[in-house]
Formats: sequence, structure tokens, C-alpha cells
Amino acid sequence: MGAAAGETQGSVMSGASGRSGGRKLIVAGGGIPGLTLALALAQAHGPALAVAVHDPALPAGAGRHRGRAYAVAAGGRRMLAALGIWERLGAAAEPITEMVISDSRLADPVRPVFLTFGREADAEDGTPFAHMVEAEPLAAALLDACREAGVALVARGIARLEGAGEGAGDGVRAVAPDGTAETASLVVAADGARSRLREAAGIGWVGWSYPQSGIVATIGHDRPHAGRAYEHFLPSGPFAVLPLADGGALGHRSSIVWTERSRDVPALLGGDAAEVLAEIERRFTPELGRLCLEAGPHAYPLSFGIARRFRGTRLALLGDAAHVIHPIAGQGLNLGLADAAALAEAVTGALRLGLDPGSDAVLQEYERARRFDTLAMGAATDGLNRLFSNDALPLRLARDLGLGLVDRMPVLKRFFIGEAAASRGAQPRLMRGERL
Ligand SMILES: Cc1cc2nc3c(=O)[nH]c(=O)nc-3n(C[C@H](O)[C@H](O)[C@H](O)COP(=O)(O)OP(=O)(O)OC[C@H]3O[C@@H](n4cnc5c(N)ncnc54)[C@H](O)[C@@H]3O)c2cc1C
Repeated sequence: MGAAAGETQGSVMSGASGRSGGRKLIVAGGGIPGLTLALALAQAHGPALAVAVHDPALPAGAGRHRGRAYAVAAGGRRMLAALGIWERLGAAAEPITEMVISDSRLADPVRPVFLTFGREADAEDGTPFAHMVEAEPLAAALLDACREAGVALVARGIARLEGAGEGAGDGVRAVAPDGTAETASLVVAADGARSRLREAAGIGWVGWSYPQSGIVATIGHDRPHAGRAYEHFLPSGPFAVLPLADGGALGHRSSIVWTERSRDVPALLGGDAAEVLAEIERRFTPELGRLCLEAGPHAYPLSFGIARRFRGTRLALLGDAAHVIHPIAGQGLNLGLADAAALAEAVTGALRLGLDPGSDAVLQEYERARRFDTLAMGAATDGLNRLFSNDALPLRLARDLGLGLVDRMPVLKRFFIGEAAASRGAQPRLMRGERL
């Protein structure tokens, strides 16, 4: 695959772009799923595959992930461990040992508990079913490991692909907004929900906006959380308090993911820190003691969407570029990590047989592996949000009954812990903790 005239390696910040003299793969988007894919492939293939991540936000500015934390399910943890990332996280990964779910109105004096998950929900290997992982150290560990594995980190975006029509030869040209271009066997669009590459490839998107926003913040508190996570279903949407590693001004910390009607957000967050904390305390029982704000709040408009296809010519969609779901079950990033595991496995299978990693066969294998899982999780989170985020009495009764049932139905419980659609045996190797 020769470089076309006018091609450039551009502002390569690290790594050995182009060193393979053979196949090249470009990941457009250095979010957590994009970096994870790049690392998995660079570790598996070394100089046989040149891997580059292009993102105008590189190097990931320290502020970009500040105050964000994700519930990473057991499959994601196994994958990060197989890639050598988990051991680098240390205290940035806090186990969730129990999850308590309740449903009430804001003014209700008691919050009856309908569903609890304890150690019985743990993964088969006895490790906790999920950990809260802070985004900033996770992104930093991935970037360091990518540099060590020889991934080229390029501080510019990709605007479109050229030469991706019928019979795209053995490569496509990935063109940056400034017109510079590089040729690759496969380009991965990991450029987020408003993916420019998905749009440029003419891949349709089915979706809608929720009239809700997700507010994220880190709170400090003076009593320990004991690894317990809470999700209160309130009429405006779920309000979750999730355990983080000890630290901060009051000795202990938790992450808040708080769904509100978008029209109410300016009034709720417009005050000073004391007023925001008062709103948090109104929604949450006081067992954490004195509270303070450590980071945030930041509000994100919420939506649901799924790409009509997860592939184009020499193009794969990954992470939020392929699907966006409601954060009610904290599974969006987990889906992106599962995408990365499935695509890395499909590309690796082809390369080991000496085949083209950007061929339709590889991309079809990837799409088949991910589409059902994604649709199932998307439908479940949309349905749960519609069921819970309202105050109609018949629905309240129905969902109270429903949660009672969930407590008795391990299959439904698995939706909440991120291993709903695929049994562990059917998961990609990395999600089972095996190396490629
Ligand atoms: C309130 C809230 C709470 C959440 N909580 C959880 C949780 O607990 N657990 C969980 O699993 N998920 C959670 N999620 C979902 C999770 O945040 C997303 O699924 C995840 O961040 C998506 O990562 P991504 O890399 O696909 O997209 P993004 O994080 O949007 O990253 C896209 C990257 O692409 C880059 N980019 C953009 N355009 C270009 C271009 N043209 N070329 C190259 N690069 C480009 C951007 O600079 C960016 O770095 C939550 C979401 C919300 C809104």
C-alpha cells in the first residue's frame, strides 16, 4: 500500500507511525474506547501493523476528563487487566460491593428499597460485578501504554475518507480538515456521538433526544460509603451515588450521576456550591454525613441513537459513534469497550491469516458480533427510563411490582450489571480476560 502524493505523517507526537511498511490502521478519536482498541492491536501485532490515533484533542488535556467516573462492568475490567491497564489504575478503581435501588417522589419521607445486588451478583471469578473508575487516570494510563506500544498519537482530526467508493483497492485516504492525508487499510470512527466520519460516509442514524440532562459531579463526605452504590428513581429521572476511592477534603468521595428535566437544570445548577449541595441533599438520604462539592457539576443533554450500520468501506464505527444510550444503567462506555474487544479480535483473525484487515468480511464479522448486544442494551435502557422517569400512579405501581420481580430474576438483574446479552463464553477473548 503506497503513500499517495501529498501525504504527510503530520504532527505525530509519539510512536512509530508507518514503521510496519505494511498494514496501517487509523483510529479517529482518542476517547477511552478508541485508545483501548489502538492499544490492543499495537500490543498484539507489534511492527506488523502500524496503529495511529488521530484526535484534535490530543494530548488529552488534563481538564477533559476531570470529575468524570464510569461504572466499568466485569468484562471491561477483565479486558483492561489483559492489556496491563488495570494494574496501573491502583486507587482510581473502586469496587462496587452492593447496589441499592429505590423508587420514590422527592417529598416522600421514606425511600423503600426494591432491589439490591450484593456479592451474589459478582463475576464468575469472584471479583466485584463493577468498579467505579475515574476517567482522568484511566485515559492517562491508556495514553502511556499506547506510547510504550508504539501507537502514533496525532494531534489532528480526520474529516473524511477518500477512495472509499466501490473497489477501494487496498486502502483509503483519511483526510484531515487541513487537507493532509494518510492511507490506511482500515479507519475506525471513534469520534463520538456526532461522528463526522459516520456522516461523511452517509451512514444513517436512528435516534431521539430525551427531555433530560445528565448532571455529573464528585462529592466529598465525612462518612465512608462502604462500597455501596445507590440509585434512587425520582419522577425526573434516576439519581445515582457511586463510590470512589477515599480522599478529598472530607476523607471520602462519591460520584453523582443525576438525571433532571433539561428545562430545570439552569435553575438547579445556577446557584453557588452550597445551593447545589442543598439540591443534592434533598435527593439523597444523609448516611454519608457532611457533604462538599469536589468537582462539577457538569450537565450533558441526553439522547438515544444507533447507527443503521456499524461499517462502511474500510470504515468501522466504534463507541458513541455507533450508539448512544441513556446513562440509567451506566453502560455506554462498557458497550464501547466491548466494541473495541470485538473489532480487535476480528482484525487480528484476518492479520494472522495474512488477510486484509479492512475487508468487508472482517467488518461484517465485527457488526454481527456487536449489533444484537447493542440493540438489546439500548432498548433496555430506553424502556427503563420511560418506565421510571414519570410520576403516573399506575406506572408507579407497575414498576414497584416490576422491581420486586427483578430482584427475583437473575436474568434481568444481569442487564444492570452489564452482562445481559452475551454469556461470558460468547464474549470476545479480551472481555474474558484473555490476550489476543
Ligand atoms: C451523564 C453520563 C454518565 C455516564 N456514565 C457512564 C457510566 O457510568 N458507565 C459507562 O459505561 N458509560 C457511561 N456514560 C457513557 C460514556 O460517557 C460514553 O459512552 C463514552 O464516553 C463514549 O466514548 P467515545 O470515545 O465513544 O466518545 P467521546 O468520549 O465523545 O470521544 C470522542 C473523541 O473523538 C474526538 N473527535 C471528535 N471529532 C473527531 C474527528 N473528526 N477526528 C478525530 N477525532 C475526533 C474527540 O475529541 C473525542 O476525544 C455516561 C454518559 C453520560 C452522558
